Amino acid sequence: MKHTDKYSDIRDAVRDLCKEFPDEYHRKIDEQRGYPEAFVNALTKAGWLAALIPEEFGGSGLGLAEASVIMEEINRSGGNSGACHGQMYNMGTLLRHGSQAQKAKYLPKIATGELRLQSMGVTEPTTGTDTTKIKTTAVKKGDRYVVNGQKVWISRIQHSDLMILLARTTPLADVKKKSEGMSIFIVDLRDAIGKGLAVRPILNMVNHETNELFFENLEIPAENLIGEEGQGFKYILDGLNAERTLIAAECIGDGYWFIDRVTKYVKERVVFGRPIGQNQGVQFPIAESYIELEAANLMRWKACELFDACQPCGEQANMAKYLAAKASWEAANACLQFHGGFGFACEYDIERKFRETRLYQVAPISTNLILSYVAEHVLGLPRSF
Ligand SMILES: Cc1cc2nc3c(=O)[nH]c(=O)nc-3n(C[C@H](O)[C@H](O)[C@H](O)COP(=O)(O)OP(=O)(O)OC[C@H]3O[C@@H](n4cnc5c(N)ncnc54)[C@H](O)[C@@H]3O)c2cc1C
Repeated sequence: MKHTDKYSDIRDAVRDLCKEFPDEYHRKIDEQRGYPEAFVNALTKAGWLAALIPEEFGGSGLGLAEASVIMEEINRSGGNSGACHGQMYNMGTLLRHGSQAQKAKYLPKIATGELRLQSMGVTEPTTGTDTTKIKTTAVKKGDRYVVNGQKVWISRIQHSDLMILLARTTPLADVKKKSEGMSIFIVDLRDAIGKGLAVRPILNMVNHETNELFFENLEIPAENLIGEEGQGFKYILDGLNAERTLIAAECIGDGYWFIDRVTKYVKERVVFGRPIGQNQGVQFPIAESYIELEAANLMRWKACELFDACQPCGEQANMAKYLAAKASWEAANACLQFHGGFGFACEYDIERKFRETRLYQVAPISTNLILSYVAEHVLGLPRSF
């Protein structure tokens, strides 16, 4: 499948870079449970991860549409943007809500890659998706905040210099609305680890560097508070539309990768004296997932268009993520199924991509939570939780 669109310059350039990191590279990293350092460095050096940083801070000031093409192409090439997508979108919180001094201090260095802001600490073990109940607290003491609590599934900590942290600054019992009283901070991980922050890596189904974090009297300078105290939850929500849309594009990249692979294979693989792709039982699931992928892609472009025009796009960003995660998973299933036994052999890369794309129905937001968002906020149904 060769698509042409107005982003072909970006597509070609990212593809060329990705070609230097073929399947064997990603397979080996997966096998070793390693981090694709050389790949991420090459993307950083070429400026791709700074796409959304405005030019005045050293980035390329591109729109979400262009940024989404970069993520799509990484996944479409057989790589996994999960290793580095945080560097592209986590800085959005700082860009939108940080002070001029914070932006001037951090953004140019994030743009060059001198600083990695790859991590965002929101999820907690006892509260899960019910974010307003988080128990991690940040208490102001003079010119510092003192943080205590625990986070789980916090990604890329070992490959990041900075983390955006959500913590409660006013107890839940003392706020009018449960979404108030939480604040966000920039945590300099280089100062924090071993001095109030302990990190426990979580081995998981995907080669995704993710961790449990334990905060015990971690001190953060008060100047690292982003925006107004108590408004942190709102700031995090503001960044989600970009994140959802970029992840949708990654799923779309995965989906095309699966469809390309399976289409080629079923034309070549001969069983019972004919290519397996001649059987409708084989054709239909592939055709169906392709149709669903194309539809998801339209919703992704809609979300990008609205976002880049500064229009509300929560509905479209959530729906794009839902549709794309589902379509890439269907494509993954068809690809695995029609490779028969070979789909399970690591050297075909299908089982790796199959694991990687499955994650997106759970994180960064689960499909159920998207359904409840649409039910409540789009269709006006009563809140279910
Ligand atoms: C590999 C990985 C990387 C991650 N990286 C990060 C990260 O960098 N930073 C971060 O903060 N978090 C991260 N997460 C956490 C991720 O965002 C959460 O796992 C996800 O939001 C779901 O939360 P939970 O695991 O606590 O599930 P739970 O909230 O316990 O939910 C479990 C299941 O129940 C369903 N459910 C819960 N409530 C309802 C309801 N009311 N109605 C219907 N269904 C419901 C959910 O949809 C879900 O399927 C990561 C997770 C993984 C697996």
